[in-house]
Amino acid sequence: MTERLHHWIGGARVAGSSGEHFPSINPTTLEDLYEVPRGNEEDVRKAVAAAKAAFEHDSWRRLSASRRGRLLRNLGDLIAEHAEELARSESLDNGKLLREMRGQLATLPEYLYYYAGLADKVQGSQIPATNVDILNYTQREPLGVVGAITPWNSPLTLTTSKIAPALAAGNTVVIKPSEHTSRTILMVAELASQAGFPDGVVNVVTGYGAEAGAALVAHPDLAKISFTGSTATGSRIAAQAAARFIGCTLELGGKSPNIVFDDADVANAAMGVIAGIYAAGGQTCIAGSRVFAHKAVYDELLERVSERARSIRIGDPLAAETELGPLAFADQLDKVASYVDLGVTEGASVRVGGGRPEGLDLPGYFYQPTVLTDVDNSMRVVREEIFGPVAAIMPFETEDELVALANDTEYGLAAGVWTQNLARAHRMARRLDAGTIWVNTYRAMSPMSPRQGFKSSGVGIEHGLESMHEYTRLKSVWINTDEGPVADPFVMRG
Ligand code: NAD
Repeated sequence: MTERLHHWIGGARVAGSSGEHFPSINPTTLEDLYEVPRGNEEDVRKAVAAAKAAFEHDSWRRLSASRRGRLLRNLGDLIAEHAEELARSESLDNGKLLREMRGQLATLPEYLYYYAGLADKVQGSQIPATNVDILNYTQREPLGVVGAITPWNSPLTLTTSKIAPALAAGNTVVIKPSEHTSRTILMVAELASQAGFPDGVVNVVTGYGAEAGAALVAHPDLAKISFTGSTATGSRIAAQAAARFIGCTLELGGKSPNIVFDDADVANAAMGVIAGIYAAGGQTCIAGSRVFAHKAVYDELLERVSERARSIRIGDPLAAETELGPLAFADQLDKVASYVDLGVTEGASVRVGGGRPEGLDLPGYFYQPTVLTDVDNSMRVVREEIFGPVAAIMPFETEDELVALANDTEYGLAAGVWTQNLARAHRMARRLDAGTIWVNTYRAMSPMSPRQGFKSSGVGIEHGLESMHEYTRLKSVWINTDEGPVADPFVMRG
């Protein structure tokens, strides 16, 4: 009998009110892994009520900021203890390499420790007033119940990026994980209880986006929604948040340029291109899916990338030698395959890959690492997010032409630059229209470094001290220290 999961509400496992479940499928073997409760409005109502009660309860409200930090540290320690189990579960769920998920789990405690350290360093300030009798100061307060809706590609890392600052700031949370990857989020919610978080501070409702997710966004007691996922869903959520004047942090899609100049170390840059698009099967928001190579190095780069792409070892993501696992679910495979077909219709040439691998003894959603050439910015394969192992490689001649091409996109999440010219590196960092710029590296990330998607890639900031501010509100307090009578009541005072 397949394992059956529960929601996590008010510090306890709670059965879904509909009684309905759906399977989570291993994308490598196509076997059912476990059954997920199909959360609905009623489940969300219970979870938000638990989170609201916890927010108002003295056990959380009166806990010092340092103590909140202590709980986050405890959670970090518990995650470190369970890292192998969590990494394995994520790899089984989404098909990403076990060693990639192990790497993510190894750094995950750092996220908790970082925000644990920040919990008691978020403070207001005293403002100089125009009237010396006035003491004016600001204080930062938690918002209340924060909804966190997250995708399947890096489930725990992306969820922790939201809940760690939210909890450090004193909020309570209701998480709606992706329907494809519920288990590790539920495991960590249970670990949060063991870490000492009071019941109801961390809640999880599983289910589909259009049901549990939409019900969470629509709940009137939600103070903020923090979402990572596709630009289309993010846009809908932003409109709903705007209608109710609640804040939202949105981390959305990308179509990031990875740029190789003629002064780059081309062998190194080729590895950076591989890392940008084939690591994680291209199923990352920061995938370097548009590769621009200077004409002088285009042939060499294309040759090196193509050769390595052809030799990528496809197979079971749990096996140590595997370099590329399956795509995460059937729709992902259809989407990637149909984009490559579309590219060919648009005039692209398939230099490498372009189909499902042959000779694998696994039935999963595998797709070959693919290189497209003869492409340009007018084509949909270059403009739209494919979210798979598909690189479009294009030549350029001048820096100005490159900047125009690289910035000609609706997205602005990240960009990679490969150059040995220091002045050019800084110049590109200034001229590229993206929230993260990597020079001679790609996919570097840290909880300490703020990241923001520009244009259709998002709203608000994740990571860093700045993200704490996303989960607080700023109050300005005015105290009159003059005990004399109120002067002219019809005149505004400073
Ligand atoms: P998605 O938008 O389909 O789903 C994301 C989450 O939103 C899931 O939990 C889903 O159930 C939920 N959801 C779907 N419809 C909803 C609705 N109407 N109301 C409320 N919730 C709803 O995205 P996905 O396919 O899970 O993830 C892939 C996307 O995420 C890609 O576009 C990728 O670029 C983006 N992403 C962005 C970042 C970033 O940091 N910018 C990181 C990872 C992934």
